[in-house]
Amino acid sequence: MSATGRTLRIQERFVSVQGEGVLAGVPSSFVRLTGCNLRCSWCDSPLSSWRPTGETIELDALLRWCAQGPRHVVVTGGEPLLHPGVSTLTQRLSETGHHVTIETAGTVDQDGLHCDLMSLSPKLAHSTPTQPLPLAQRHESLRWQPDTVRALMRFEWQLKFVVRADAQDVLAHDVEEIDRMLETLGIDEPDRVLLMPECIDPAELEARYQRISAVCCARGFRLGPRLHITAFGHTPGT
Ligand code: SF4
Repeated sequence: MSATGRTLRIQERFVSVQGEGVLAGVPSSFVRLTGCNLRCSWCDSPLSSWRPTGETIELDALLRWCAQGPRHVVVTGGEPLLHPGVSTLTQRLSETGHHVTIETAGTVDQDGLHCDLMSLSPKLAHSTPTQPLPLAQRHESLRWQPDTVRALMRFEWQLKFVVRADAQDVLAHDVEEIDRMLETLGIDEPDRVLLMPECIDPAELEARYQRISAVCCARGFRLGPRLHITAFGHTPGT
């Protein structure tokens, strides 16, 4: 948001069905803010993270656009909570009767937020890039902030983990890391934990879903769909 508090810099806005999480399939307006403090090696939205682009839009204009769309609004990124104006945006969306989901990696917080579903997606070790070294080090030091994740759980929440599922052993490795994270958080609600395959190729998803399903059945986690990949391919605006 600008210094005057009247604008936000967004990479894109569109209406589609939610592709991920417990609200998968729900028609929603997506507001994708640009810029991220992380640099995941497999980031599927580099134009809103590594190479931030986008338009600066008046908050009132954005709210008018949301008013013409579905009741559900998803505030995403990049890392939306880097933008101080998200608190004003989400409060005003709430005042106009919208259901607000915030999608965040859980590394930053801000006061004054309104949120009906905090969709937390802490990043696992495999997200850390190998280069360039300064960015890799910054990512590794920032990606897991349990105190911040816990604070953001003051809202209704879900935990989404992107896991490698191209082979059984790497999936098992990622699940061990998730177990340690859940223990640190003191979380014992596996049905609020979703495992999503790291994959943007629709042809690859089926086999990865099958491997993850076996883990979910054994552990009580949920299989996290990626409907926007299966329905539309890896296409902006979906
Ligand atoms: S946190 Fe999200 S937007 Fe940021 S680099 Fe990782 S995948 Fe991309």
